[in-house]
Amino acid sequence: MPDLMEQITSLAKRRGIVFPSSEIYGGLRSSWDYGPLGVELKRNVKDAWWRAMVQLRDDVVGLDAAIIMSPKVWEASGHLEVFTDPLVECRNCHQRFRADDLEGDPKTCPNCGNHTFTDARNFNLMFRTHMGPVEDGAEDVYLRPETAQGMFVDFATVQQTARRKVPFGIAQIGKAFRNEITPGNFIFRMREFEQMEMEYFVKPGTDEEWHEYWIQERLRWFTELGVRPDNLRLRDHDADELSHYSKRTVDIEYRFPFTDWGELEGIANRTDFDLKAHERHSGEDLTYFDPETEERYHPYVIEPAVGVDRAILAFLIDAYRVEEAPTAKGGTEKRTLLALHTDLAPIKAAVLPLSRNDRLVPAAKEVFDLLKPHWMCDYDDAGSIGRRYRRQDEVGTPFCVTVDFDTLDDRAATVRDRDSMAQERIPVASLVEHLRERL
Ligand code: ATP
Repeated sequence: MPDLMEQITSLAKRRGIVFPSSEIYGGLRSSWDYGPLGVELKRNVKDAWWRAMVQLRDDVVGLDAAIIMSPKVWEASGHLEVFTDPLVECRNCHQRFRADDLEGDPKTCPNCGNHTFTDARNFNLMFRTHMGPVEDGAEDVYLRPETAQGMFVDFATVQQTARRKVPFGIAQIGKAFRNEITPGNFIFRMREFEQMEMEYFVKPGTDEEWHEYWIQERLRWFTELGVRPDNLRLRDHDADELSHYSKRTVDIEYRFPFTDWGELEGIANRTDFDLKAHERHSGEDLTYFDPETEERYHPYVIEPAVGVDRAILAFLIDAYRVEEAPTAKGGTEKRTLLALHTDLAPIKAAVLPLSRNDRLVPAAKEVFDLLKPHWMCDYDDAGSIGRRYRRQDEVGTPFCVTVDFDTLDDRAATVRDRDSMAQERIPVASLVEHLRERL
């Protein structure tokens, strides 16, 4: 259903959720900006992950490592050598593609239909830049292509300062950069994106069990936040597609409309590859000493790794619906709805005075002031009340609180539910409690 992607992209742009970056200069194909509503949605997705992965657990701690790390990190991790995609160029139109995207018979250029390509050459996906004022190559550095290496190079410091015993995890949310050959499909594949990764350090021999555990935990996270279970599946990587560090990788795939199934999250058993590689290259001891068994070993690592943007795309797709809704005059009209989980909705409640009447506005502002310390709220007094409800539905606001002339006498407001459109009269004095039970 390619049409669905168009509808979501256009809604996202129209409502300032996500739109092309640098658009006044014609945009930059792979970069996207999150507007006022998008930034709330993105924060909520990251908060939901952080809460589930760090705050609600006693075995995972957080980290915020630098984006520009020592170039030696990428030598040790293997990224300089093998973080590549096979690139081919069409001999006719000179468009470039990932060779593995063109597999199948005949190998045809998706742009011009020609059949001859240059030989595939390996193209490193890391962005290279210079540190300091002299561009002589001596200070070449890279923008990190994954956040994970921060957790490996800081493993010993975090383990000791946070006094953690294996098994424990280190989690990080942050930007990652990949010079993708073919970015596209809205925010599915970007060159600058955000990742949420957690490295869970375990005793060798218990790694397979922990791997299963994290696969189930991560599936649960998506479904609890509203992703439809039948749009999700697990897929084991074949031996020939496994990353150089992985013993087993299972992808959580989502039924994106532009491809049958696409990777949403990867959950890898990275073994002791990274810790051993960094120990070899840095000369620092990266073993763990188990005080109970008095054993010293390199922990194995289970890594759930997901893109913030890709997760947002899946949440948007499953939340998007167009329905026939009854109008005040007894007919029906189309209403567009983002049925986002309340934890993810950018705005939790919108306060709407029935009109801009001089007596209503102060009463409505009072309600707004009452709610906004608790949740991200909106105040909207422009246009008919029906139009305002539609505007809030379209961006996923779970509750609208309408202040009308009766409010001035009965000190109550009408609370409308986004999904059922049911309306309830609630005393202003108990609004916070009423919403808290539902948010
Ligand atoms: P793909 O096969 O789609 O290129 P990958 O296997 O290289 O992805 P990982 O290295 O496993 O991806 O990265 C972990 C997660 O980061 C992915 O599951 C995805 O959600 C996200 N991600 C990776 N590359 C991008 C990108 N270019 N744009 C947006 N998100 C990305």
